[in-house]
Amino acid sequence: MKRFVYILICAGTVFSCKVKQTKENEKLIVCSTSITADCVRQVVGSKLTVKSLMGPGVDPHTYNPRPSDVVLLNDARLVVYTGFHLEGKMAELFSRLSERKEVISFQLDFPKQRILYTDGITPDPHVWFDTDSWVHGMNGVVDKLVELYPQYELEFRENFYRFMIQVQQKTKELKQKLSEIPEKQRVLITSHDAFHYFGRTFDIRVKALQGVSTSQEPGMRDVVDLVDFIVDHKVKAIFVENSVSPKALKSVLSSVERRGYHVKIGGTLFSDALGSKGSGADTYVGMLTHNVNSIKEGLK
Ligand SMILES: [Zn+2]
Repeated sequence: MKRFVYILICAGTVFSCKVKQTKENEKLIVCSTSITADCVRQVVGSKLTVKSLMGPGVDPHTYNPRPSDVVLLNDARLVVYTGFHLEGKMAELFSRLSERKEVISFQLDFPKQRILYTDGITPDPHVWFDTDSWVHGMNGVVDKLVELYPQYELEFRENFYRFMIQVQQKTKELKQKLSEIPEKQRVLITSHDAFHYFGRTFDIRVKALQGVSTSQEPGMRDVVDLVDFIVDHKVKAIFVENSVSPKALKSVLSSVERRGYHVKIGGTLFSDALGSKGSGADTYVGMLTHNVNSIKEGLK
């Protein structure tokens, strides 16, 4: 809490002073997560510099902005974030920034009818797993980029079109791959509830130990229910996530063992953050591919 108050004070200080836009900052786009950053990078190519506040494996639900983030945000020509309250602790910063800087979210153009709600009111923020809608949601971001850098319009729009086709084709290919798992076995169990859009897109049933945000610990009841489900449905594998501690899921594993059934960890999935460079999951499309391959391998 103390740290958050400090950040707000820091934000107030930095935002109140007029920073001279340097030539480099003119071309600086700052994104909240590694996923948003990669998607923006696909559009701007080498014309602009894209930086992500959160690196690989960082959980956006609980992320507290650092003083260096505030400086970076202040330097940026454009700030891009996901929205849908994914970046829970940064809402105040983005709101303050938007009063004096170009700030845009992927939420703006995300098709409303495609939003999933966790309790009828709260949107599930893991929208990038609805690949078509996510790319559609990029339209507003691309328009904003073109507005700020009209000299690159043709290149940005061509890159975006190419990316859109790539995502569409990859989605089709990956859906086909998962459909080869017998329907009864096609169940994805993960640490936190980040895969509802993924389940809808790739036609796989999903269950998780924690809710859509990692800010609340799972209760005893959640563990017992999940253990029952795994044993009853003879689930072959469960999956840890790169941005969530595997501790709670490992306790599920032990409880399942005590019931005389064995379930394995099918691998690490990338849910709210991309993987590090060279992991194969360091791009949006790479992440989708890695996830589907791991699920296929674990559940076959
Ligand atoms: Zn999440």
